[in-house]
Amino acid sequence: MRAFDYVRASDARQAATAAAVVGAKFIAGGTNLLDLMKLQVERPEHLVDISRLPLGDITETENGLRIGAMVRNSDLAASEIIRKDYPLLSRALLAGASGQLRNKASTGGNFLQRTRCGYFYETSARCNKREPGSGCDAIGGFNRIHAILGASEHCIATHPSDMAVAMRALDAKIETLKPDGSTRVLALGDFYRLPGNTPELDTNLQPGELITAIHLPKPPGGKHVYRKVRDRASYAFALISVAAVVSVEDGKMQGVRLAFGGVAHMPWRDPAVEALLNGKAPSSTLFAEAAELLLKDAKGQGANDFKIELMRRTLPAVLSEASGATA
Ligand code: SF4
Repeated sequence: MRAFDYVRASDARQAATAAAVVGAKFIAGGTNLLDLMKLQVERPEHLVDISRLPLGDITETENGLRIGAMVRNSDLAASEIIRKDYPLLSRALLAGASGQLRNKASTGGNFLQRTRCGYFYETSARCNKREPGSGCDAIGGFNRIHAILGASEHCIATHPSDMAVAMRALDAKIETLKPDGSTRVLALGDFYRLPGNTPELDTNLQPGELITAIHLPKPPGGKHVYRKVRDRASYAFALISVAAVVSVEDGKMQGVRLAFGGVAHMPWRDPAVEALLNGKAPSSTLFAEAAELLLKDAKGQGANDFKIELMRRTLPAVLSEASGATA
């Protein structure tokens, strides 16, 4: 590990200002960043410790819930209000990482964890995300965990978070503070980026911009299902995952929300698929049609071709469970 400066921020504005300089990084739980620093994938010159900032509360608001960025993943998953009103989020959190990691990982940091593409972590490999312009060894290489949607010729990485998939289905928004003291609130679709020709950028955060909280709208009615398909039963990243909220009224599906993990550079959502399902009676034919619509632009990279068929089967199974229909 290389030498770096360390400063413990005493308030959010000071943290944002300190992290606005070139080579600076925030550190909260450090569950991903420290690994990356040991491997020399990340080489920050200045670390701004935000772990003591007073951002650890979950509060009910007029519009729903405000979750402080420093709420630990384990506390969020165990929160009574989350378990009762947003079970999708609690289940996704519990499906991610190990208990020890959840005890350290922060909610804000969970959104910012970096891809688990093996070439990104191997500094002798070519990787446009780690070293822009160097190439992408995953294309034509070992790409079993890589993207089938929204990839580019420069990067085919996926986002590893389970929590972010549930948050996307729940229409979460991210509140930030910039070094100049201004704030903004971003929907997840605007917060994350597809790789395009700048795969080194995972998000639209600006230098020094600090995540201060996450806003969840009022809880959606209906059944919540989070299904994660992975290589082993615990402590593994998703090959694919599906977060679903479905209500059924008078035999017809309403308020369908779907988000997908393990398939793209960001938690994926497709409004056309939700529109297809809303207002219709659940049926296996309709669910298969929804899967085909979701996958119409899907592209395998060789070793991950199986993900297309896996999603073709998993989405109908999740919709059956969420709608109470027989598969
Ligand atoms: Fe790097 Fe992305 Fe290619 Fe992986 S897929 S090697 S992260 S550029």
